[in-house]
Amino acid sequence: MRLSQMLFVTLREDPAEAEIPSHKLLLRAGYIRRLASGVYAYLPLLWRVLTKISAIIRAEMETTGAQECLLPQLQPADLWRESGRWETYTKAEGIMFSLVDRRQQEMGLGPTHEEIITAIARDMVQSYRQLPLHLYQIQTKFRDEIRPRFGLMRGREFIMKDGYSFHTDEASLRQTYQQMYRSYGAILSRCGLEFRAVEADSGAIGGSGSTEFMVLAAAGEDEVLYSSDGTYAANVEKAVSLPPLAVPSGFRELTTLATPDTATIETLTQFLGCAASQIVKNVVYQVLFDGDQTVLVLVSLRGDQEVNEVKLTNELTKLAPGYGGTTVLALTVPDPAAQAAWAAKPLPLGYIGPDLEDSYIQSGRQNIAPSFVRLVDRTAADLQDFVTGANQAGYHRVGVNWGDQCPRPERLVDIRRAMAGDRACHDPEQRLQTARGIEIGHIFQLGTKYSQALGATYTSETGEELPLVMGCYGIGVSRLAQAAVEQSYDNNGIVWPMAIAPYQAIVVIPNLGELAQVEAATQLYSQLWEAGVETLLDDRNERAGVKFKDADLIGIPYRIVTGRALAEGKVEVVERASGKSENIALDAVVAWIQQRILNSLAA
Ligand code: ATP
Ligand code: MG
Repeated sequence: MRLSQMLFVTLREDPAEAEIPSHKLLLRAGYIRRLASGVYAYLPLLWRVLTKISAIIRAEMETTGAQECLLPQLQPADLWRESGRWETYTKAEGIMFSLVDRRQQEMGLGPTHEEIITAIARDMVQSYRQLPLHLYQIQTKFRDEIRPRFGLMRGREFIMKDGYSFHTDEASLRQTYQQMYRSYGAILSRCGLEFRAVEADSGAIGGSGSTEFMVLAAAGEDEVLYSSDGTYAANVEKAVSLPPLAVPSGFRELTTLATPDTATIETLTQFLGCAASQIVKNVVYQVLFDGDQTVLVLVSLRGDQEVNEVKLTNELTKLAPGYGGTTVLALTVPDPAAQAAWAAKPLPLGYIGPDLEDSYIQSGRQNIAPSFVRLVDRTAADLQDFVTGANQAGYHRVGVNWGDQCPRPERLVDIRRAMAGDRACHDPEQRLQTARGIEIGHIFQLGTKYSQALGATYTSETGEELPLVMGCYGIGVSRLAQAAVEQSYDNNGIVWPMAIAPYQAIVVIPNLGELAQVEAATQLYSQLWEAGVETLLDDRNERAGVKFKDADLIGIPYRIVTGRALAEGKVEVVERASGKSENIALDAVVAWIQQRILNSLAA
């Protein structure tokens, strides 16, 4: 491609809309253009990158026997009602764009495709002989994200590869899951990315085991905790650890103390001269289940620990059936206005104990459960002679014990947030460390959640009718492209990994006025293409400095300059990543570049 004929517009200044380096660079270098919040045009240079990533994905999928297809993006609401996700996706999370067609049928724009693929399997798979089966697609997804940001990282329209597998049993599912675990690693390695596979929460998609593939970068929205021996790594949403040991309590006797102005852990520890780990703190949450039941939740945990709201949501989801629901629509710490809707009297906030009476909840209210769900984190349950609120503003109790002053916890749960510095569960000698990550891929063992909901069954070898066992596997193709930039850039611009660079080389003519330069460049340009090297030719009527800057900005791995060295029958070749420059004979340069490309793709 000749730059003079391309839509090639680069910006000198960082666009105001962009916050992180990769977003700035993709905009400045003319890879993307924003049309609306979270909606971007993929311009020709980026499209080449996306095409290359897709080709790598297809090649890896091909080796696993997964088959490519393309499913509808317009999805009937009824299928989502069957799975029970219509309300959650269109209302609670509100992530699904929905519309009503001219026949008054509700439809959604696909944020993911479990419902569609399960409906197809329900119709087409009858027998165990057709299993296992694995289909995938590469397609635009729509998600009305709360906070679209960072360009392609979190778009409202983005490209995803998603795959779904069907099995007779868990063992077969695990086999495909392991295979995808390896394939996803291979895809990311081939794309030239450094990543870490981490244990993950399964979220609204549901199911049991899941792994996320994280590209480590400071701009990542996720936090990863890992042990330095490499055996444990997990998203903080899912991570478990051993908390620091609690400082033994010196409060031997149960006493209620006036503790004015000690509504926070910090002020209380100062006032009492105790450690935060001797305190049981109690947080009131308000949860709304589908079916319109509001339930008040009293969470007790050790004073030096924080609540992990993902774990808490998972625990509450388990309780949903008891309140006529299936899922959590909203989880909040109620502010005074929200409290006013259900509190019978003002809560002693900052002074609450685990035994806070149910009489704080107005009785006889429809849609509001009359008693607290009381969840006690293990860290709190393990304490003795602890400090906790006296359920009276300005007062705390010390020397409290479970079973004596406070009812023994009914539900022991792990709802604390694991933290950097905690001891690892598999080896308490190891301390967990933290890193930021960009989630690029996510693989799930779904089990029978969707097949059961939609009635997708098969007939087993023994003639039994059983639900299909499912897995699903996703990679953000457009997010991956930007993550590659986030992981590889310098002051001058993007430094693409060879495997996904839009072009592998760029031939620059410093001075269009010199015929020898133009001739040598044009000839090289065709020779490189003939040799299979994807090459750009900068034949624009611009100053040499501008061309060099642009070549660096767009991040092409090799720049070949037909400049001064031509007098000796040579061209200057500059490697983008290292900045190293070499003069190479005109008749040797094609083979030289070819070799370099081969080497870097093999690495
Ligand atoms: P996140 O937690 O970042 O919102 P997710 O858990 O919702 O991601 P999945 O539903 O597992 O993501 O989707 C599979 C992959 O699609 C993700 O790993 C990610 O690479 C990509 N992806 C998800 N949401 C977006 C988005 N809004 N923009 C770009 N890529 C996305
Ligand atoms: Mg998401």
